[in-house]
Amino acid sequence: MFELFKARFRHGYQAIPNPLKAGMDPAFPGLPVLDKQMDFELLNGVCPTNAFSEQGCDLGKCIFCGACERKFPHMIHFSNDFKMASDDRQKLIMAPGANSLAPIEFRLPSQFRRSFTIRNVCAGGCNACEMELAACNNVNFDISRYGIEMVASPRHADALILTGPISRSMASALAETWQAIPEPRYLILAGACAISGGIFAESPAIDRAFLKHWEACLFIPGCPAHPLSIVSAITQIMGIK
Ligand code: SF4
Ligand code: SF4
Repeated sequence: MFELFKARFRHGYQAIPNPLKAGMDPAFPGLPVLDKQMDFELLNGVCPTNAFSEQGCDLGKCIFCGACERKFPHMIHFSNDFKMASDDRQKLIMAPGANSLAPIEFRLPSQFRRSFTIRNVCAGGCNACEMELAACNNVNFDISRYGIEMVASPRHADALILTGPISRSMASALAETWQAIPEPRYLILAGACAISGGIFAESPAIDRAFLKHWEACLFIPGCPAHPLSIVSAITQIMGIK
């Protein structure tokens, strides 16, 4: 028993003390900053998802490949800020000259402030987003400290977190899982595939009709979405500071 205590003492406290204020590796490509003189047509010339427009860079489409920064470093630079999520699809567009997205205003009803259960549906993604979702439960990120649990059954879920572009073969399974979640239920989109179709947006093998019928309350960009982006976004809608 004494040896067990010694081993536990040696391990120390491995969870990131406050993931909402965690430092991030400088190499992490987070929130981009665009020069006011950016040329969106030039930038789209190297962007695999056509993420640029006159309005700026659409983080819902961006797969964070870094091609634009490598080719036009004077027009765009990726900071290491992991807090990039929105409650509105349109607010995911990073405007030239801006250094943050508009704040998330949506809040869950008070009964979800201390307990929020989520069912993941992977609808044709590459599994990297799901791996990062699973990592949210590891000892570093420890999302369950906030009362957030990933559950296996939609009957036990308050929300559905969608990853992947929604392949045609997964469209009906997604709709059935959603219908099995008791109301009130909430939809969260994580990763470029779920938000915009990502690199699969033009594929005939996807069917995104589900998203025409149901509105998401939270959009978490990334390819994949980083656990810190996921934890900070979900805790924000729960009202945790
Ligand atoms: S980092 Fe994003 S915006 Fe830049 S080229 Fe890649 S996908 Fe496009
Ligand atoms: S967003 Fe990127 S990491 Fe996530 S499922 Fe799609 S391709 Fe994979």
